Amino acid sequence: MKWINQGHEFDKTAAVLCGKETRYYIWGTANIAQSLISLCGKEINIIGAVDSDTTRQGKCICGMVIEDPEILDPKSGYIALVTTSAFNEIKPRLIGKGFQENINFFDYFVFTQIYQLYKHDKLYSRRLDIALTERCTLKCRKCNMFMPYFRNPGDLDKDDVLKQIDQYFSMVEYLESFNLLGGEPLLYTPLAEIINYTASKYRDHIDHFKIFTNGTLLPGEELLELFHKYSVEIQISDYTEAVPYQKRLQELKDLLEKANVSYYVLKSSLWGDFGFPENCNSISDTQWIPFFDACRASFRGLYKNRVYFCHLETSAVRAGIYEDRPNDYFDLGKELKNKKKSFLEFDQGYSRDGAVSFCRLCRGCDTVNPLTVEAAEQMEDRNV
Ligand code: SF4
Repeated sequence: MKWINQGHEFDKTAAVLCGKETRYYIWGTANIAQSLISLCGKEINIIGAVDSDTTRQGKCICGMVIEDPEILDPKSGYIALVTTSAFNEIKPRLIGKGFQENINFFDYFVFTQIYQLYKHDKLYSRRLDIALTERCTLKCRKCNMFMPYFRNPGDLDKDDVLKQIDQYFSMVEYLESFNLLGGEPLLYTPLAEIINYTASKYRDHIDHFKIFTNGTLLPGEELLELFHKYSVEIQISDYTEAVPYQKRLQELKDLLEKANVSYYVLKSSLWGDFGFPENCNSISDTQWIPFFDACRASFRGLYKNRVYFCHLETSAVRAGIYEDRPNDYFDLGKELKNKKKSFLEFDQGYSRDGAVSFCRLCRGCDTVNPLTVEAAEQMEDRNV
């Protein structure tokens, strides 16, 4: 979406969402609904609840009987809030009934972002990734961080990272997922300092604090203590079908369990193929903005005191295989009128050009792209 009135794009929507007369139905009655109700349930008028799970129908949530979603009616004048993570499955059902996205139905997080900013001046964001190092223990040909393309892989400067984190949280009140990654983040020597500093200052502002590792390295005592102390979640990508390191992966799991650290393992023999740089997308000018709108990746990347809309592009820029373009990032250091509102708009996909330039070459996430490749296929001829 192109900025037409930067800093005011959501003014009209917010006036409706924050309006005293506005009534809401929630679709979904599990954890997300409970969180939304505890955050703003006393301020907004929720008149009903539905759930596709038939075992929940007929039970109660906050004094409301949970009904079948079939009863939702766009002519009834209320707004439907999708309070589950299955937004992409529910969205076509609501559209099929005649609801319109971001008019009379909203994803819970989009609603929360607009409502909290306009009502309480609190900026919420969904996800921030920081690739602390460009070094990795693996050489995956189709790495979506383009690690094999870094000619001189290095680490981010620790003090610089901490400054950027301070700058980010001076504006953002709440972040759903804060992710430290690489390359392989356990190769990053000051990782403990980054975690300690960030968590001691901002842990209350972060829902999920995560480390993404490929499971080939073991954290030391200090890191294990910090993971436990600050409820850091370890996301382990299991590539043992492509690379034989089962024993090490098991050691890591045992270590985390012993240290009472929460972890989960993602195992997949296929990755989505973003195409770039070997099999780039090629779309026309007219297809470009709709393609971006259909993908709108959720991963924002922090680098050089900028939040890049798409972390894939951040990495391509860092690797020197894609030109840096100001349209594609939000400069945290830049003075701006209505800065928080501009950030919210950027986070929702607004920009000067209406789309991220990198989408012209990238084939996108699985919502728009069926291509897959073998996961973690190793390269021999690259320099990492
Ligand atoms: S198409 Fe590619 S560059 Fe564009 S938002 Fe999606 S993942 Fe990012």
